Amino acid sequence: MQRPTFLARCAKCGTSFSRPEQSDFAYGTLLFSTSDGRRHAEVNALEEFPSRVGRLVAEDDFWDALARLADPIHGQTLVADRPCPHCGSTHLADWAGEQTGICEVETVAFERAALLNDNELTSRIHDKLTW
Ligand SMILES: [Zn+2]
Repeated sequence: MQRPTFLARCAKCGTSFSRPEQSDFAYGTLLFSTSDGRRHAEVNALEEFPSRVGRLVAEDDFWDALARLADPIHGQTLVADRPCPHCGSTHLADWAGEQTGICEVETVAFERAALLNDNELTSRIHDKLTW
């Protein structure tokens, strides 16, 4: 799917970059990014697998747990805290500024994690189990 991108600025390195933002109407969804901050993917918390994870983790840990369980995109793991694509900092000085264009946003998939039972899922969430 395509999403509009908006200007953001990193608080650490000062670089300005474009990134998609959540639609105000996209209830229950969040954008993750690859660990290098260059690609974005949308996840819907109301779908079957995220709902299952929601029953296993505390609310505060939910998005991080989902990102950890997501299938990699182009070999990169996903993170819920979208980092600066230049320095990797997750501290932004500004975001959702001027609209800059449009980018392709993928849909987060959980094909591998969906095969795990609840115990395995919990271990994976707490990083005790590697793929
Ligand atoms: Zn930066």
